Amino acid sequence: MSEKRTEISEFGEFGLIDHLNEKVQIKNSSTLKGIGDDAAVIDAGDHVKVVTTDLLLEGVHFDLAYAPLPHVGFKAVAVNISDIAAMNAIPKQITVSIALSNRFSVEAVDAIYSGINAACEHYGVDLVGGDTTASRGGLIISITAIGEAKKEQVTYRSGAKVNDILCVTGDLGGALVGLQVLEREKQVFLANPDMKPDLEKYAIVSGRQLKPDARMDIIHEFRELGVVPTSMMDISDGLASEIFHISKASGVGATIYEDKLPIDKQTYDTAVELGIDPITCVLNGGEDYELLFTIDQKDFPKLEKHPDVHFIGHITKAEEGKFLVTKSGTAVQVKAQGWQHF
Ligand code: ADP
Ligand code: MG
Repeated sequence: MSEKRTEISEFGEFGLIDHLNEKVQIKNSSTLKGIGDDAAVIDAGDHVKVVTTDLLLEGVHFDLAYAPLPHVGFKAVAVNISDIAAMNAIPKQITVSIALSNRFSVEAVDAIYSGINAACEHYGVDLVGGDTTASRGGLIISITAIGEAKKEQVTYRSGAKVNDILCVTGDLGGALVGLQVLEREKQVFLANPDMKPDLEKYAIVSGRQLKPDARMDIIHEFRELGVVPTSMMDISDGLASEIFHISKASGVGATIYEDKLPIDKQTYDTAVELGIDPITCVLNGGEDYELLFTIDQKDFPKLEKHPDVHFIGHITKAEEGKFLVTKSGTAVQVKAQGWQHF
């Protein structure tokens, strides 16, 4: 080891992944895609397998002060399924590894697995293995998901072309606003344990945070409609950050329109109540687990009337940059803040 010490924060999460990737050499021709997309893609003869993994840590990704154990289990599966969906693939199997401190009882583990099993049922996947170990630092859940697709169905971050239409599913910003509400109620409760949190008014946004649903419904609809997006990824770090990923991987620019960005009424109202800009929540809020994708203009009529697909902009040449056109018609540069873990 050299004397030099570089802080991880200097690289950031994505910088660190790029740095690690520099030393990785692919040796097998069956590895069609390694590091750098929502999932790896592996040749399996007449089809491909897609593989993704995510790690959830107590205190970093969830707080058991307000996240019920079954929801934690469900979410741990859903965030992986979302990455399978982002490849336009169908999830088939998961493995689940958990680390538990002695704070957790068998009943607590059962509660986590009730959520995991409910998610397996919901997404039609089989739990096929995992690992169990002790932890000194609370609960850790690591899930790996495996999916399948035909080779020509797989969507990468790198396929967006100039003039493609940029689309998002559902609405954005809800999970971040939900997190802010849950944190606020936690502080109220810690200050006065007799105060019961009033979350009913915030059911939609707190639900978006605690129990996200991966958009497999959209992937099945793509199959029925005969649509293969030109590029796709899931929105886990915020729309702005994901637009940067698609732009970088595809070598393109993008223009999006503020008045086209989907936001739920409760998300909007709660953001205003909390004193945060709703558009900032839409652009930079994490964990919505909606899909960001691009389609060729010829496919627009197939999705035009879809109630849950929103056309937020289009792909431009790389040198045109990444811009948000505000409601007043001003073009402002999109900045990728996203979630910074480091
Ligand atoms: P997502 O948000 O879709 O889960 P990430 O941003 O976590 O994707 O990861 C981006 C890419 O980097 C993926 O291909 C992932 O497999 C890869 N990756 C992330 N962390 C590591 C690591 N520590 N070692 C190798 N590859 C990694
Ligand atoms: Mg992803």
